[in-house]
Amino acid sequence: MLRSVILAASRSSRLERLVETAPLTRGVVRRFVAGTSPDDALRATGELVADGLAVSLDLLGEDTETAEQAVATREAYVSLLAALRDAELTPAAEVSVKLSALGQKFDEQLAYDGARAICVAASEAGTTVTLDAEDHTTTDSTLDILIKLRTDFPTTGAVLQAYLRRTEADCRELATAGSRVRLCKGAYNEPESVAYQSTLDVDKSYVRCLNILMSGDGYPMLATHDPRLIAIGEDRARWFDRSPDEFEFQLLYGVRPEEQARLAAEGYTVRVYVPYGTQWYPYLMRRLAERPTNVGFFLKAVSGKG
Ligand SMILES: Cc1cc2nc3c(=O)[nH]c(=O)nc-3n(C[C@H](O)[C@H](O)[C@H](O)COP(=O)(O)OP(=O)(O)OC[C@H]3O[C@@H](n4cnc5c(N)ncnc54)[C@H](O)[C@@H]3O)c2cc1C
Repeated sequence: MLRSVILAASRSSRLERLVETAPLTRGVVRRFVAGTSPDDALRATGELVADGLAVSLDLLGEDTETAEQAVATREAYVSLLAALRDAELTPAAEVSVKLSALGQKFDEQLAYDGARAICVAASEAGTTVTLDAEDHTTTDSTLDILIKLRTDFPTTGAVLQAYLRRTEADCRELATAGSRVRLCKGAYNEPESVAYQSTLDVDKSYVRCLNILMSGDGYPMLATHDPRLIAIGEDRARWFDRSPDEFEFQLLYGVRPEEQARLAAEGYTVRVYVPYGTQWYPYLMRRLAERPTNVGFFLKAVSGKG
Protein backbone atom coordinates (compact mmCIF):
# COMPACT_ATOMS: atom_id res chain seq x y z
CA MET A 1 0.00 0.00 0.00
CA LEU A 2 2.68 2.49 1.12
CA ARG A 3 4.82 1.30 -1.79
CA SER A 4 2.02 2.17 -4.28
CA VAL A 5 1.53 5.62 -2.73
CA ILE A 6 5.24 6.42 -2.94
CA LEU A 7 5.46 5.12 -6.52
CA ALA A 8 2.44 7.26 -7.47
CA ALA A 9 4.21 10.25 -5.86
CA SER A 10 7.25 9.55 -8.05
CA ARG A 11 5.13 10.78 -10.99
CA SER A 12 3.97 14.01 -9.29
CA SER A 13 5.71 17.12 -10.56
CA ARG A 14 4.35 19.26 -7.68
CA LEU A 15 5.87 16.94 -5.11
CA GLU A 16 9.05 16.80 -7.16
CA ARG A 17 9.44 20.59 -6.90
CA LEU A 18 8.79 20.48 -3.16
CA VAL A 19 11.31 17.70 -2.58
CA GLU A 20 14.00 19.23 -4.81
CA THR A 21 13.87 22.55 -3.01
CA ALA A 22 13.67 21.16 0.53
CA PRO A 23 16.73 22.22 2.51
CA LEU A 24 17.82 18.86 3.85
CA THR A 25 16.94 16.63 0.92
CA ARG A 26 20.54 16.63 -0.30
CA GLY A 27 21.74 14.44 2.56
CA VAL A 28 19.19 11.75 1.72
CA VAL A 29 19.97 11.95 -1.97
CA ARG A 30 23.68 11.58 -1.34
CA ARG A 31 23.12 8.14 0.16
CA PHE A 32 21.83 6.79 -3.14
CA VAL A 33 23.22 9.11 -5.84
CA ALA A 34 26.93 9.61 -6.58
CA GLY A 35 26.59 13.33 -7.37
CA THR A 36 25.30 15.61 -10.08
CA SER A 37 28.24 15.94 -12.51
CA PRO A 38 30.29 13.56 -14.69
CA ASP A 39 33.27 14.32 -12.43
CA ASP A 40 31.28 13.04 -9.44
CA ALA A 41 30.47 9.89 -11.42
CA LEU A 42 34.13 9.34 -12.35
CA ARG A 43 35.27 9.87 -8.76
CA ALA A 44 32.74 7.38 -7.35
CA THR A 45 33.60 4.88 -10.10
CA GLY A 46 37.34 5.22 -9.41
CA GLU A 47 36.79 4.52 -5.70
CA LEU A 48 34.64 1.45 -6.31
CA VAL A 49 36.99 0.03 -8.95
CA ALA A 50 39.94 0.56 -6.57
CA ASP A 51 37.98 -1.58 -4.06
CA GLY A 52 37.73 -4.42 -6.59
CA LEU A 53 34.14 -3.74 -7.67
CA ALA A 54 32.77 -3.33 -11.19
CA VAL A 55 30.38 -0.46 -12.00
CA SER A 56 27.40 0.33 -14.21
CA LEU A 57 26.86 4.09 -14.47
CA ASP A 58 23.38 5.52 -14.94
CA LEU A 59 22.86 9.11 -16.04
CA LEU A 60 19.64 9.94 -14.20
CA GLY A 61 16.72 11.05 -16.34
CA GLU A 62 13.71 9.30 -17.85
CA ASP A 63 10.46 10.03 -19.69
CA THR A 64 12.17 12.54 -21.98
CA GLU A 65 9.62 14.67 -23.82
CA THR A 66 11.58 16.38 -26.60
CA ALA A 67 14.05 15.32 -29.27
CA GLU A 68 16.52 17.93 -27.97
CA GLN A 69 16.53 16.33 -24.50
CA ALA A 70 16.99 12.90 -26.08
CA VAL A 71 19.98 14.07 -28.11
CA ALA A 72 21.49 15.79 -25.06
CA THR A 73 21.20 12.52 -23.10
CA ARG A 74 22.86 10.57 -25.91
CA GLU A 75 25.72 13.09 -26.09
CA ALA A 76 26.19 13.04 -22.31
CA TYR A 77 26.62 9.24 -22.42
CA VAL A 78 29.02 9.45 -25.37
CA SER A 79 31.26 11.94 -23.57
CA LEU A 80 31.02 10.00 -20.29
CA LEU A 81 32.25 6.86 -22.08
CA ALA A 82 35.22 8.76 -23.55
CA ALA A 83 36.05 10.09 -20.07
CA LEU A 84 35.84 6.58 -18.56
CA ARG A 85 38.22 5.29 -21.24
CA ASP A 86 40.65 8.20 -20.68
CA ALA A 87 40.59 7.52 -16.93
CA GLU A 88 41.31 3.82 -17.66
CA LEU A 89 38.10 2.81 -15.88
CA THR A 90 36.93 0.56 -18.70
CA PRO A 91 36.18 -2.31 -18.99
CA ALA A 92 35.45 -2.36 -15.21
CA ALA A 93 32.81 0.35 -15.72
CA GLU A 94 29.97 0.09 -18.23
CA VAL A 95 26.80 2.17 -18.63
CA SER A 96 23.11 1.51 -17.98
CA VAL A 97 20.68 3.34 -20.24
CA LYS A 98 16.94 4.01 -20.00
CA LEU A 99 15.42 4.10 -23.47
CA SER A 100 12.73 6.50 -22.20
CA ALA A 101 15.52 9.04 -21.63
CA LEU A 102 16.37 8.68 -25.34
CA GLY A 103 12.81 9.41 -26.50
CA GLN A 104 11.26 5.90 -26.60
CA LYS A 105 7.82 7.18 -25.51
CA PHE A 106 7.36 9.44 -28.55
CA ASP A 107 9.87 8.25 -31.19
CA GLU A 108 11.18 4.67 -31.04
CA GLN A 109 13.52 5.20 -33.97
CA LEU A 110 15.12 8.16 -32.20
CA ALA A 111 15.61 6.02 -29.08
CA TYR A 112 17.13 3.20 -31.14
CA ASP A 113 19.49 5.63 -32.93
CA GLY A 114 20.54 7.13 -29.59
CA ALA A 115 21.15 3.72 -28.02
CA ARG A 116 23.12 2.66 -31.06
CA ALA A 117 25.37 5.75 -30.83
CA ILE A 118 25.98 4.93 -27.14
CA CYS A 119 26.84 1.31 -28.08
CA VAL A 120 29.36 2.60 -30.66
CA ALA A 121 30.97 4.85 -28.01
CA ALA A 122 31.00 1.98 -25.48
CA SER A 123 32.60 -0.37 -27.96
CA GLU A 124 35.28 2.27 -28.76
CA ALA A 125 35.88 2.65 -25.02
CA GLY A 126 36.18 -1.14 -24.62
CA THR A 127 33.06 -1.62 -22.56
CA THR A 128 29.35 -2.50 -22.70
CA VAL A 129 25.85 -1.06 -22.41
CA THR A 130 22.87 -2.48 -20.50
CA LEU A 131 19.32 -1.37 -21.32
CA ASP A 132 17.41 -0.78 -18.07
CA ALA A 133 13.87 -2.17 -17.78
CA GLU A 134 11.10 0.37 -17.19
CA ASP A 135 7.33 -0.03 -16.80
CA HIS A 136 5.64 -2.95 -18.57
CA THR A 137 4.20 -0.83 -21.40
CA THR A 138 7.77 -0.47 -22.69
CA THR A 139 8.96 -4.10 -22.36
CA ASP A 140 8.21 -5.25 -25.92
CA SER A 141 9.71 -2.14 -27.46
CA THR A 142 12.84 -2.37 -25.25
CA LEU A 143 13.41 -6.06 -26.05
CA ASP A 144 12.88 -5.38 -29.79
CA ILE A 145 15.51 -2.61 -29.66
CA LEU A 146 17.83 -4.91 -27.67
CA ILE A 147 17.64 -7.63 -30.35
CA LYS A 148 18.39 -5.07 -33.09
CA LEU A 149 21.35 -3.64 -31.16
CA ARG A 150 22.75 -7.11 -30.51
CA THR A 151 23.22 -7.67 -34.26
CA ASP A 152 26.28 -5.38 -34.15
CA PHE A 153 26.82 -5.23 -30.37
CA PRO A 154 26.19 -8.76 -29.08
CA THR A 155 27.26 -7.91 -25.52
CA THR A 156 24.44 -5.39 -25.00
CA GLY A 157 22.79 -6.34 -21.71
CA ALA A 158 19.08 -6.96 -21.14
CA VAL A 159 17.15 -6.41 -17.90
CA LEU A 160 14.26 -8.66 -16.94
CA GLN A 161 11.89 -8.04 -14.01
CA ALA A 162 10.83 -11.08 -11.97
CA TYR A 163 7.52 -9.46 -10.97
CA LEU A 164 6.24 -9.64 -14.56
CA ARG A 165 4.35 -12.83 -15.38
CA ARG A 166 5.98 -12.95 -18.82
CA THR A 167 9.55 -12.96 -17.49
CA GLU A 168 10.13 -16.71 -17.18
CA ALA A 169 9.44 -17.01 -20.92
CA ASP A 170 11.72 -14.03 -21.64
CA CYS A 171 14.49 -15.69 -19.57
CA ARG A 172 14.21 -18.84 -21.71
CA GLU A 173 14.46 -16.73 -24.90
CA LEU A 174 17.47 -14.80 -23.66
CA ALA A 175 19.51 -17.54 -21.92
CA THR A 176 21.67 -18.04 -25.00
CA ALA A 177 25.45 -18.05 -25.44
CA GLY A 178 27.03 -14.68 -24.63
CA SER A 179 23.71 -13.08 -23.65
CA ARG A 180 24.11 -10.73 -20.67
CA VAL A 181 20.87 -10.64 -18.67
CA ARG A 182 20.30 -8.67 -15.46
CA LEU A 183 17.54 -10.18 -13.33
CA CYS A 184 15.88 -7.82 -10.84
CA LYS A 185 12.57 -7.94 -8.94
CA GLY A 186 11.14 -4.84 -10.68
CA ALA A 187 10.63 -1.34 -9.33
CA TYR A 188 7.41 0.05 -10.87
CA ASN A 189 3.74 0.03 -9.90
CA GLU A 190 2.27 -2.69 -12.11
CA PRO A 191 -1.29 -4.06 -12.40
CA GLU A 192 -2.21 -7.59 -11.37
CA SER A 193 -2.98 -8.49 -14.98
CA VAL A 194 0.74 -8.37 -15.85
CA ALA A 195 2.61 -8.65 -12.54
CA TYR A 196 2.70 -10.73 -9.37
CA GLN A 197 1.57 -8.57 -6.44
CA SER A 198 2.76 -10.39 -3.33
CA THR A 199 6.36 -10.39 -2.13
CA LEU A 200 6.27 -14.19 -1.93
CA ASP A 201 5.10 -14.60 -5.53
CA VAL A 202 7.73 -12.14 -6.79
CA ASP A 203 10.47 -13.95 -4.84
CA LYS A 204 9.33 -17.36 -6.15
CA SER A 205 9.33 -16.01 -9.69
CA TYR A 206 12.84 -14.59 -9.10
CA VAL A 207 14.08 -18.06 -8.11
CA ARG A 208 12.47 -19.74 -11.15
CA CYS A 209 14.02 -17.11 -13.45
CA LEU A 210 17.40 -17.38 -11.69
CA ASN A 211 17.33 -21.16 -12.22
CA ILE A 212 16.66 -20.70 -15.95
CA LEU A 213 19.45 -18.16 -16.36
CA MET A 214 22.04 -19.97 -14.21
CA SER A 215 21.39 -23.30 -15.97
CA GLY A 216 21.42 -21.69 -19.42
CA ASP A 217 24.23 -20.58 -21.71
CA GLY A 218 24.16 -16.81 -21.11
CA TYR A 219 25.82 -14.49 -18.58
CA PRO A 220 23.41 -13.93 -15.65
CA MET A 221 23.63 -10.69 -13.67
CA LEU A 222 21.78 -11.21 -10.38
CA ALA A 223 20.61 -7.75 -9.25
CA THR A 224 19.22 -7.94 -5.74
CA HIS A 225 19.98 -7.01 -2.13
CA ASP A 226 17.83 -9.81 -0.81
CA PRO A 227 20.02 -12.06 1.40
CA ARG A 228 17.94 -15.18 0.62
CA LEU A 229 18.14 -14.64 -3.14
CA ILE A 230 21.87 -13.89 -2.98
CA ALA A 231 22.38 -17.15 -1.05
CA ILE A 232 20.36 -19.03 -3.69
CA GLY A 233 22.51 -17.38 -6.38
CA GLU A 234 25.68 -18.56 -4.62
CA ASP A 235 24.22 -22.06 -4.30
CA ARG A 236 23.28 -22.28 -8.01
CA ALA A 237 26.72 -21.02 -9.02
CA ARG A 238 28.23 -24.00 -7.18
CA TRP A 239 25.59 -26.39 -8.52
CA PHE A 240 25.99 -25.30 -12.16
CA ASP A 241 29.75 -24.95 -11.75
CA ARG A 242 29.86 -21.31 -12.82
CA SER A 243 33.17 -19.57 -12.19
CA PRO A 244 33.31 -15.86 -11.11
CA ASP A 245 33.71 -14.74 -14.73
CA GLU A 246 30.56 -16.62 -15.81
CA PHE A 247 27.98 -14.57 -13.85
CA GLU A 248 27.87 -11.60 -11.51
CA PHE A 249 26.01 -10.05 -8.58
CA GLN A 250 24.76 -6.48 -8.90
CA LEU A 251 23.72 -4.07 -6.11
CA LEU A 252 22.78 -0.41 -6.01
CA TYR A 253 25.12 2.37 -4.93
CA GLY A 254 24.71 3.01 -1.21
CA VAL A 255 22.69 -0.14 -0.52
CA ARG A 256 24.27 -2.85 1.63
CA PRO A 257 27.88 -1.77 0.94
CA GLU A 258 29.13 -4.33 3.49
CA GLU A 259 27.46 -7.09 1.45
CA GLN A 260 29.08 -5.74 -1.74
CA ALA A 261 32.48 -6.02 -0.03
CA ARG A 262 31.73 -9.49 1.38
CA LEU A 263 30.76 -10.90 -2.03
CA ALA A 264 33.83 -9.36 -3.67
CA ALA A 265 36.05 -10.81 -0.92
CA GLU A 266 34.50 -14.23 -1.61
CA GLY A 267 35.84 -13.87 -5.16
CA TYR A 268 32.55 -13.11 -6.94
CA THR A 269 32.25 -10.45 -9.61
CA VAL A 270 30.19 -7.64 -8.03
CA ARG A 271 28.89 -4.69 -10.04
CA VAL A 272 27.56 -1.56 -8.35
CA TYR A 273 24.89 0.42 -10.19
CA VAL A 274 25.92 4.06 -9.77
CA PRO A 275 23.35 6.76 -10.61
CA TYR A 276 24.41 10.38 -11.05
CA GLY A 277 22.91 13.58 -12.42
CA THR A 278 20.43 16.25 -11.45
CA GLN A 279 17.23 14.34 -12.23
CA TRP A 280 17.31 12.11 -9.19
CA TYR A 281 13.70 12.50 -8.00
CA PRO A 282 11.95 9.44 -9.57
CA TYR A 283 14.99 7.23 -8.83
CA LEU A 284 15.00 8.28 -5.17
CA MET A 285 11.25 7.68 -4.84
CA ARG A 286 11.63 4.12 -6.18
CA ARG A 287 14.37 3.44 -3.62
CA LEU A 288 12.13 4.77 -0.82
CA ALA A 289 9.23 2.62 -2.02
CA GLU A 290 11.44 -0.45 -1.66
CA ARG A 291 12.34 0.32 1.91
CA PRO A 292 9.55 2.13 3.75
CA THR A 293 11.74 2.29 6.88
CA ASN A 294 13.61 5.10 5.10
CA VAL A 295 10.46 7.13 4.57
CA GLY A 296 10.19 8.65 8.07
CA PHE A 297 13.80 9.78 7.86
CA PHE A 298 13.14 11.24 4.43
CA LEU A 299 9.95 13.09 5.42
CA LYS A 300 11.76 14.70 8.33
CA ALA A 301 14.48 15.88 5.94
CA VAL A 302 11.95 17.29 3.45
CA SER A 303 10.06 19.15 6.17
CA GLY A 304 13.31 20.62 7.45
CA LYS A 305 12.99 18.78 10.76
CA GLY A 306 15.44 15.97 10.02
C1 LIG B 1 21.96 -3.33 -9.97
C2 LIG B 1 20.48 -3.13 -10.00
C3 LIG B 1 19.88 -2.71 -11.16
C4 LIG B 1 18.51 -2.55 -11.23
N1 LIG B 1 17.91 -2.21 -12.42
C5 LIG B 1 16.55 -2.16 -12.50
C6 LIG B 1 15.89 -1.95 -13.74
O1 LIG B 1 16.51 -1.79 -14.81
N2 LIG B 1 14.52 -1.92 -13.74
C7 LIG B 1 13.79 -2.11 -12.59
O2 LIG B 1 12.55 -2.10 -12.64
N3 LIG B 1 14.40 -2.28 -11.39
C8 LIG B 1 15.75 -2.32 -11.32
N4 LIG B 1 16.37 -2.52 -10.10
C9 LIG B 1 15.55 -2.44 -8.85
C10 LIG B 1 14.93 -3.78 -8.50
O3 LIG B 1 13.91 -4.10 -9.43
C11 LIG B 1 14.32 -3.74 -7.11
O4 LIG B 1 13.31 -2.77 -7.07
C12 LIG B 1 15.33 -3.42 -6.01
O5 LIG B 1 16.56 -4.03 -6.25
C13 LIG B 1 14.80 -3.90 -4.67
O6 LIG B 1 14.63 -5.31 -4.69
P1 LIG B 1 15.62 -6.31 -3.93
O7 LIG B 1 15.81 -7.48 -4.82
O8 LIG B 1 16.87 -5.61 -3.58
O9 LIG B 1 14.81 -6.79 -2.68
P2 LIG B 1 13.83 -6.08 -1.64
O10 LIG B 1 12.57 -6.87 -1.71
O11 LIG B 1 13.77 -4.59 -1.79
O12 LIG B 1 14.58 -6.36 -0.28
C14 LIG B 1 14.71 -7.70 0.17
C15 LIG B 1 15.60 -7.75 1.38
O13 LIG B 1 16.90 -7.22 1.06
C16 LIG B 1 17.43 -6.55 2.19
N5 LIG B 1 17.63 -5.12 1.87
C17 LIG B 1 17.10 -4.45 0.83
N6 LIG B 1 17.50 -3.15 0.86
C18 LIG B 1 18.26 -3.02 1.96
C19 LIG B 1 18.96 -1.92 2.55
N7 LIG B 1 18.90 -0.68 2.05
N8 LIG B 1 19.67 -2.18 3.68
C20 LIG B 1 19.72 -3.40 4.22
N9 LIG B 1 19.06 -4.47 3.69
C21 LIG B 1 18.35 -4.29 2.60
C22 LIG B 1 16.44 -6.71 3.30
O14 LIG B 1 16.76 -7.90 3.99
C23 LIG B 1 15.14 -6.90 2.53
O15 LIG B 1 14.14 -7.55 3.28
C24 LIG B 1 17.72 -2.76 -10.05
C25 LIG B 1 18.34 -3.20 -8.88
C26 LIG B 1 19.68 -3.40 -8.84
C27 LIG B 1 20.31 -3.92 -7.58
